[in-house]
Amino acid sequence: LPEYAFIGRSNVGKSSLINMLTKRKSLAKTSGRPGKTQLINHFLINEEWHLVDLPGYGYARVSKKEKKTFQKFITDYFKHRKQLISAFVLIDVRHEPQKIDLEFMQWLGENMIPFSIIFTKADKLKPNAIERNVQQYLDKLLETWEALPPHFITSSAKEVGREELLGYIEEVNSKL
Ligand code: GDP
Repeated sequence: LPEYAFIGRSNVGKSSLINMLTKRKSLAKTSGRPGKTQLINHFLINEEWHLVDLPGYGYARVSKKEKKTFQKFITDYFKHRKQLISAFVLIDVRHEPQKIDLEFMQWLGENMIPFSIIFTKADKLKPNAIERNVQQYLDKLLETWEALPPHFITSSAKEVGREELLGYIEEVNSKL
């Protein structure tokens, strides 16, 4: 089944977003392959696709060695997952563009891995501030990219963006 991977800095709101997206009866959480790493969770959605919950990056207090191991884990996943259709990179809409996120998207691009951006926690800002921050982010991306990835604005607290996101994935699936 096609797979869509969700990833972002720790505390960006990934668990909350996944809860918002998966809270319907037709969804079942399936663990990763038995005996393999427990770092990745798969959620089967509508018997049609898998939502993949990847661990958060950017923890401040981890050793260099741990960072390396983690990086290898993530890069191995992206490089070898044949079912992977696209990644969703989560960005806290309140934050200015951060190096770690930009570098990660750069890496995805260089490795030809399609991705979209999800701006999270939209309920924390007024609409004009959201618009300003999103535009600032897109401008930053345009410094290195010719085309922009799709982007979505969500709030798990206010249940914003759910239908749009699920609809987008269904549409991509229908073209596979
Ligand atoms: P994760 O570490 O990326 O999985 O982040 P969590 O989903 O655990 O969220 C981190 C913190 O942000 C928690 O305190 C959440 O309650 C809060 N949070 C997550 N999403 C939202 C949102 O859409 N709106 C608001 N106001 N808070 C959120």
